[in-house]
Amino acid sequence: MSLRAKKIVVVAALGTVILLTNVWAFADLLDRLGVVALAQRIRSEYITGTAVAVILTLLFLLGSSSVISVPRRLARQCPVCDHLLLRRGKYCGACGSRV
Ligand SMILES: [Zn+2]
Repeated sequence: MSLRAKKIVVVAALGTVILLTNVWAFADLLDRLGVVALAQRIRSEYITGTAVAVILTLLFLLGSSSVISVPRRLARQCPVCDHLLLRRGKYCGACGSRV
């Protein structure tokens, strides 16, 4: 371990100790400023369990790689290059293979 790595480890350890000793002071400061009450009000008013469930469901359902969603019957994919085929035709516009 080089001297520089040792210095980084010591500084990181000191920073961690200082941060851990001041966690309560920082939490008290946030409480005095009203940030905690504001966060609790926002959580109780806007972020209900139903909203979280709906958001997670939408993230799961819309997690595909394509940003633009096209109905399945309007668009096909080329079996060779996976190019999106928006027009009817027998050949792929990107690679020229028969669809
Ligand atoms: Zn193709």
